[in-house]
Amino acid sequence: MSSHLRSRNNTFANLQLERSAEQRDDADWLEERLCSAKSRFIVLRDDGRILVTGDQRALRGLDPFERDRLVRDVVPTYLGSAGGSDRFLLRIDATQGDLVAAELGVPFMNLRSAGVSLPAFDAGLFAYALGLANWQARTRYCANCAAPLRFEAAGHRAKCTNPQCAMEHFPRTDPAVIVIVTWRDACLLGRMPRLPPKRFTTLAGFVEPGETLEDAVRREVFEEAGVRVGASDYHSSQPWPFPASIMLGFTAQAEDPAIQVGPELAEARWFEADQPPLPHDRDGMRGAGEPLGLRHIGMYGYRRDVLLRLAGLPPSPLERRECLEQLRALENGIAIGVVEWTGEPVIEVDTAADLEQARAALGEEVTR
Ligand SMILES: [Zn+2]
Repeated sequence: MSSHLRSRNNTFANLQLERSAEQRDDADWLEERLCSAKSRFIVLRDDGRILVTGDQRALRGLDPFERDRLVRDVVPTYLGSAGGSDRFLLRIDATQGDLVAAELGVPFMNLRSAGVSLPAFDAGLFAYALGLANWQARTRYCANCAAPLRFEAAGHRAKCTNPQCAMEHFPRTDPAVIVIVTWRDACLLGRMPRLPPKRFTTLAGFVEPGETLEDAVRREVFEEAGVRVGASDYHSSQPWPFPASIMLGFTAQAEDPAIQVGPELAEARWFEADQPPLPHDRDGMRGAGEPLGLRHIGMYGYRRDVLLRLAGLPPSPLERRECLEQLRALENGIAIGVVEWTGEPVIEVDTAADLEQARAALGEEVTR
């Protein structure tokens, strides 16, 4: 499988949208789309939450009439088109947000929740919109001369209003690497101090100037866990607008399993299949061999076979289905997700739609 297809499996990464970047400066072209009855205006509050449908299963875009009635004064940003419908972003404040939510009787949702509950396209559109909105919110004065900026190109470029400067500013994306390091059948996971005691994640960090992605992988793993890695390979990528990153997923092999935890982590361990990570950590579990909890929260590379064994595939069909649903992105041996080791299954199927989604993703593996 190519990295293109692998990336498509990642949360926030399946946004198949025509962005029409070359048309953004064409006022007539834009006006036509602003007025089209088929256009939809997605609504993002300044706290990063987006308007969704009442059942919280899709984005709730405003049609042009609703936009006119509820948020007429907000300048729209063009996002792109899909399925014959153009999508715009409206950034609103809390007061406007409360008004829209009350008028339409629908809620707002944050991006992490959207990653697990919205369709892939909607989650991807949200991530795109949030990344752009984060940039717009923080791009108010020229970094060159400190004069105010003015947005152009349908919200995708900021121009300095000082004619002597006139510098143009564009949205930036900061590369970060995330890596699953393996040693034989074990995977290296770490826990940041702010995470709960049993939540471990793959290691990640920002790429520094003058550094290749592979060098960043080696440096981050050594800084965080004291583990030397040899070969590493690119896997796939994922938009990560927290606030302005792209996650570049890698796999890597450790040269030696010795761990020396650095200042960024509270702990780091090798997680092996079919057994608790370390004997003295069994206290919070019901005993060796019990299934470990799994929760899909964000991004990581993870070997599918190890994850499945780590998950223990709980015996009840419902639990098994849910685990499989969490792992539905894994077609090529790598999962994208966060492992949460809780000592018990943490996912519950709460709606019929969850089951339908699992079935659709897994085909005959899922049976009622
Ligand atoms: Zn300037």
